[in-house]
This record gives sequence, C-alpha cells and structure tokens, in this order.
Amino acid sequence: MEIKYFDNAATTKISKEVLEEITPFMNQEYGNASSIHSLGRQSKKAIEEARKKVADLINCNSKEIIFTSCGSESDNTAIKGTAYALRGKGNHIITSKIEHPAILESCKFLENRGFNITYLDVNNDGFINLEQLNNAITNRTILISIMAANNEIGTIQPITKISKIAHSHNILFHTDAVQAIGNIPIDVQEMEIDMLSMSGHKIHAPKGVGALYVKYGIPFEKFIDGGHQEKNRRSGTENTSGIVGLGKACEIAKEHLDSHMFELEQLRDYYISQVEKTIPNVRLNGSLKDRLPGNANISFKLVDGEALVLELDKKGICASSGSACTSGDSTPSHVLKALGLDDDTANSALRISFSEENTKEDVDYLVDSLMESVEKLREYNDSLY
Ligand SMILES: *Cc1c(COP(=O)(O)O)cnc(C)c1O
Repeated sequence: MEIKYFDNAATTKISKEVLEEITPFMNQEYGNASSIHSLGRQSKKAIEEARKKVADLINCNSKEIIFTSCGSESDNTAIKGTAYALRGKGNHIITSKIEHPAILESCKFLENRGFNITYLDVNNDGFINLEQLNNAITNRTILISIMAANNEIGTIQPITKISKIAHSHNILFHTDAVQAIGNIPIDVQEMEIDMLSMSGHKIHAPKGVGALYVKYGIPFEKFIDGGHQEKNRRSGTENTSGIVGLGKACEIAKEHLDSHMFELEQLRDYYISQVEKTIPNVRLNGSLKDRLPGNANISFKLVDGEALVLELDKKGICASSGSACTSGDSTPSHVLKALGLDDDTANSALRISFSEENTKEDVDYLVDSLMESVEKLREYNDSLY
C-alpha cells in the first residue's frame, strides 16, 4: 500500500537534494573537522559553508550559529544556559503554557533549582496576551521564551511585539522556531530575536542535527564540555553530514519560501473546507488567520483521536492525534487544554501537517478516508451506550 504522509510536523522525509548533498560525507568525506589533514579540512569547510546557509535563512552572522544535536538540545541550552549565566541578575523566566516539552521540562528543571517560572495563558486561538506578559515582568526577570509557531495547532505568535516588550525591560528573548523555520519568514534582526532554536528533521534534513542562534554578546553557559568544538560553545565531534544537510535544507527553504507557503496554504485550506463541508460535528483548533501554512488541527467530536489515527493507518495514511511526543499517552494534550477545550474534545483532535509532496488528490483520499473512519468510530461509540 502506498503511504500518504501527513505528519510533517512530527518529522519530514529527507529531500532528494539534501540526500545527494550529504551522501559523500557519510562515505568518502569522513574526516574529523578538527583534524588538520586534507580530509579533516574538507569537513571543516563543508561545516562552515553550511553555517553560512543557516545564517542566511534567518539573517544573522554565521558566527552566531551553534550546531547542536536537535531542537530539544537547542531549547535546553537556551533556557538552562541563559538561566545559569544570568542567575546573579535574577531568577525569573517567562514562557507560555503551550510550549514544546523541551522548553517546559527545562523550565521545570530550573523550578526545582530555585528559579521562578511564569507560564502565560493563551486565548482560545492559542495566542498569549501581551498585557499579561507585561504584567508578569519583574526586576528579577532574565528571560522570555515564547515559541514562534506551535507544533500542534500551528498558531503563530506576534514575535516582534513580544521581543520589543522584552527589550524595553532589558530582558533577553528566546524563541523556539523549530516549526516556523522554513515555513514562515524569520528574520532575527528585524524581529529582534536574541536566541532561536531550530531542528533539521522538521525541514527535510536528517534527524540528529539542530542549531541554536545566539546573538553576539549574549551570555550563556555551555551545555556540553569537551573538545572545544563550535568555538567552545558546544563540544563533541561535529555531525558533518547532518550539518551539511541542515545547511542545504536552509538554502532550499530560503529559495522557495514564497511558493512553499502558497502551496501548503492551498492544501490546508482545501482540506479544512472539505472536512467542514462533509463531516458534521468538527471543530478547527487554533487560529484561522495566523497559522502555519501546512497545519490543520481538527477535533472530530465523539471520536477518539488515537483510534482515528490507527483507522487511517490501515488506509496507508500517516497523521497524528496531537504532538508525537505525547502519543501513546492518553492524557489530553497540554496545548489543547490550554485553549480551554474539554478533555473529550481535546482527545478527539487530529493533526494533519502537509508537505509539498502532498497533492490535492491526496487530500481527497484523506477526506474520503476520514468520512468513513469517523462514521465507523462514531457508530461504534453509539453502540456502547
Ligand atoms: C520537534 C520540535 C522540537 C524538538 O526538536 P527535536 O529536533 O525533535 O528535538 C522542539 N520544538 C518544537 C516546536 C518542535 O516541533
């Protein structure tokens, strides 16, 4: 059976161009970038070229890019690294209730070690309240970390407004842009971002590589000690092929951003309208307007989201019932709960996330499959009562 993949917010397929670019670094060009022989120097050169491409995508200097092992490591480094570097200045951090677990758990770690964390509420579209943010700031606040776009509901936060509030109080601003990168324009200078996390495998590069942008002069304590790689900001022998792949993916993302956004928006809006037209009792979760181009999160009331994912799987469709990180776990998504959804509605959510490989015909197949599966599960639920 042919697989129809609609789970690009969980991970993406490595693109053909990226695969071609990284293959030599997995067989012939295997030198350690710290070695001074020619094979080592070639790896070093490839890493620096990739760094430039990553920097170009977000409009920073390549010296401000640190390669990491994943988005989670970038988030951990930003939160804990800043907290430890600035603990003489204050112990208060502000974030939101709908962050990725890499942020929330890092904050919890700090909470257990004497830091105070404010978790901002969101409204029923998933936006933080700027007034609540302003009111939460104290003279002990050292960091504000708010995600650029949410992985479950696709809501895009007003990042520039948030960073301006942070800077008007001399507070650093970090954003988890793992879902935003490659899907919406991100310019760290224009948006006044001090630190930003990204991940390779969400943008058609390999798993196991990420990057952290840290603006010049921003203090942070490094996370991994060792052989002084990445200008002593992140030790460990560089993942050359992964880094080269991330660089290539960023280059492609920059080149095709407009058409990429347009194509995904077409698929998303077509999907949403077809579902709303053909299936009763559904609810779109998240903002209709400020939303990632490829994200559609819909609750199919009176259906269990995980059961729906498994029904669709039988038809060759990959989708998600919430975030991949919480699947297998039947507690309702913290993001959907923060929107104010009751447990049943939260547990009936299905996240569809598109890539450019999806076609309108794929969406038709998806909607037909949903009509069948939703009806079947609802009948089954009815028979229980
Ligand atoms: C996937 C994701 C992460 C984690 O990235 P990994 O590379 O999988 O560790 C962090 N934040 C968001 C918003 C994500 O979607």
